[in-house]
Parts: sequence; structure tokens; C-alpha cells
Amino acid sequence: MAKITMRTPLVEMDGDEMTRILWAKIKEILIAPYVELNTEYYDLGLAHRDETEDEVTVQSALAAKKYGVAVKCATITPNLQRMSEYNLHRMWKSPNGTIRRILDGTVFRAPILCKGIRSYVPGWTKPIVLARHAYGDVYSAVDYAASAGETAYLVTEKEGKEVSRTPIHSFAGGGVLQGMHNTDESIRSFAHSCFRYALDRKIPMIFATKDTIAKTYDGRFKQIFAEVYGEYEARFCEAGIDYLYTLIDDAVARVMRSEGGMLWACKNYDGDVMSDMVATAYGSLGMMTSVLVSPDGKYEYEAAHGTVTRHYYKHLKGEETSTNSVATIFAWTGALKKRGELDGNSELVSFAEKLERATVATIEEGEMTGDLIPLFSREGIEPKKCNSEAFLYAIAKRL
Ligand code: NAP
Ligand code: MG
Repeated sequence: MAKITMRTPLVEMDGDEMTRILWAKIKEILIAPYVELNTEYYDLGLAHRDETEDEVTVQSALAAKKYGVAVKCATITPNLQRMSEYNLHRMWKSPNGTIRRILDGTVFRAPILCKGIRSYVPGWTKPIVLARHAYGDVYSAVDYAASAGETAYLVTEKEGKEVSRTPIHSFAGGGVLQGMHNTDESIRSFAHSCFRYALDRKIPMIFATKDTIAKTYDGRFKQIFAEVYGEYEARFCEAGIDYLYTLIDDAVARVMRSEGGMLWACKNYDGDVMSDMVATAYGSLGMMTSVLVSPDGKYEYEAAHGTVTRHYYKHLKGEETSTNSVATIFAWTGALKKRGELDGNSELVSFAEKLERATVATIEEGEMTGDLIPLFSREGIEPKKCNSEAFLYAIAKRL
């Protein structure tokens, strides 16, 4: 059988620890036998980031901007302990943060569902995709601790001259203050990314704020989303999907009652909190994918989990591991499908879909990694725990 060829290269961002091991195995066992892989390879492993003064991360993000589709392995975000472990020159920033700043994107997280792995919320039978606005609000706020007798104002200046002075509070005793912001531009990009994603996947979308309380602040989010939706409304109707704007508390109640199957667009803080709730409800972190979509339609696919350090240390000691590679496999299939769609390469799209089906079928038929065993229950099927590599061969057999 001739291998499937690729016209445009995929930007490949390699990473660290256990996921780096899985990365190479996934390519070797599941992709390379069928696809003449055409990738532009960037090694974002921590040692190479350090050698290149993190320039490799910037170069990889620029390549993603140029070619439009990237696939990324999980990477270590250095902390003090990693500084000594890897003998680093500097505490390099999070690669995901750097890539997001360059692509200016929104992160969408979606669970992979399999029969037999039940959600902790029994009604959620379809995936809930969560989009978090990753700019501003409380994450870039300024805090201040006030003492008795102080009065706080919100003051703005333009060219050194005061424009506005709004009283906040006069403190009788001690207290705290916070100043936060967002920008129309960032909110608008977020809205475009969300509407584009919902259309792409043909799923309805819900967006919520607390505009009854924060009339100006959250009111601006509501207004910009309404304006941007104007550009998508006809296409939403055509695709038979809705967009609903509501208050955040109503949204939470609606999502809980729903069967899933929607895109939930969240403000920064809501997304931080709700993404952990949604991820947990669907079971293992190893089943959660993530894609960064820029407002001009560039895509970077990855798993939502980290480098699975604890398993890597076991692997280094020569012990057997059973690490879930599903989210990383779906990062590859997501990227191959998107590359295929953009290049009109239906063979590549079809290969990626088959790999996804083979992966899901492997679990549904009872072969899985250890994290899924306690979650699995299907009449007549006794789940079998595979080690990291055996799981990939079990998929290959079906593929
Ligand atoms: P993690 O790698 O996601 O792992 C946390 C725990 O979750 C694991 O110890 C494991 O639990 C379970 N787990 C996660 N993924 C799994 C999988 N595929 N299969 C089976 N179990 C899985 O998070 P972390 O340990 O907090 O972070 C490790 C490193 O990853 C850090 O250096 C961090 O900076 C980095 N990180 C990178 C990204 C990214 O690149 N996007 C995201 C998050 C973290 P058990 O130990 O109980 O088996
Ligand atoms: Mg969180």
C-alpha cells in the first residue's frame, strides 16, 4: 500500500518526559506506517529550549502562524526545582503562554467520549467543549491593601491629565482593593474564535457573564459578542445551530441539565474554574484534548494534560508504565484532519478519522490504560490494563 502524502508541512512541536516518549511511539506505531509524514520539526524539550535561549519556542509559534496548523507535545514549565534538575540558564516562561501570545488565540478543551466510560454527570452524554478567554480580568489585576481612613478612587489619565475620578470606597477599617481591565480588541478576537469554532464543529454555543451586576464591564462583553454574532448569524442558521447569551448562573444551571454537545464560552475566571469541573466530570485527564485557535484561523493541537512526570520517573527506573496516550493521539489526528481539510487532502482526513475510531474502539472493546480501568463499566466486558506501548499496538491492530 502506498503511503498517504502531505502537501503542506505540519508544524511539529516535540516536548518533555513521558509525553515525549509517547510522542515518538505514536508516530512510529500509528502514523508513519501509513502517512509519509511531512513535518517541520521543532524540539521544545526543556534542554533544547535552554540551549536556544527559548528561541525555538518563538520560531515554532512563527511557523504555526506561517503554515496554519501545528501539533504540540506537553512541555515542562520550569520552576525552581526544574532549574536545578535541568541545570537551566534561566527560568524560561511557559511555552504555551509564549505560543498563545504570538498566535493571540483562544484555547478550546474537548473531552473524548467512549462507551463504557461514564461521565460523573450522567446526563452528559455528548462532549462539552469549553473555551476560556485567556486575557485580562483578575489574572492581570492590581491589588492593594487599604487601611482605615483611606479613600479609594478609580482614576484615569490621558497625556498626563486626569480624565475621570470615580470613588470606590472609603475605608473605616482595613480592606482590600483590586483594579482589573480588558480590551475591546481581545474580547472581539475571543468572540470570533468561539463563533468560528462552533461553526467548524457544528455545535450550538452559549456565552454568559454577570452583566446585571457589572453593567459596564460585563455589559461590554455582552455587547461585543452580540455585534460579532451579527457576522455569523446567517451561517449559524444555515448550519442549524443556535447561539444563546445568558447570565452565568443561568448558564451553569442549563449546562448541568443538558446532555452536553455544545461550546461553552467562558470569561477568564469562569473558564479557569469550569474547565476543571468539566474535565473531572468526563473522567481522566488523559481523555481531554485542547486546541488553540487564533482569530485569523491558525490551529495548534495538543493534549490538555502535562508531561506526566510521575510516570516518567518510573519509566527511567525501568519500571512499566500505563500512561494514557489518547489525548496526544487526538492532538495528532486533529492536526492531520485540519491540514487535510485545508489542503483538500481527503485521504489524510479519512486516515485521521480511522485512527480516532480505532482508538475509541480499543477502549470500548475493553483494552485501556490504568487510569481508565476504575471508570470503565460495560456489560459482558472485563477491562484489561495495557502498558503504554501495548495500548498503542492494540490500536494499531484495529487500525
Ligand atoms: P500532569 O502531567 O497532567 O499529571 C498529573 C497527574 O494526572 C499524573 O501524575 C497522573 O496521575 C494523571 N495524568 C495526567 N495525564 C495522564 C495520562 N495521559 N495518563 C495517565 N494519567 C495521567 O500534571 P503535573 O504532574 O502537574 O505536571 C507535570 C509537568 O507538566 C509540569 O512540569 C508542568 O509544567 C507540565 N504541564 C504542561 C502542560 C502543557 O504542556 N500543556 C500542561 C500542564 C502541565 P497519577 O500520577 O495518579 O497516575
Ligand atoms: Mg483551573
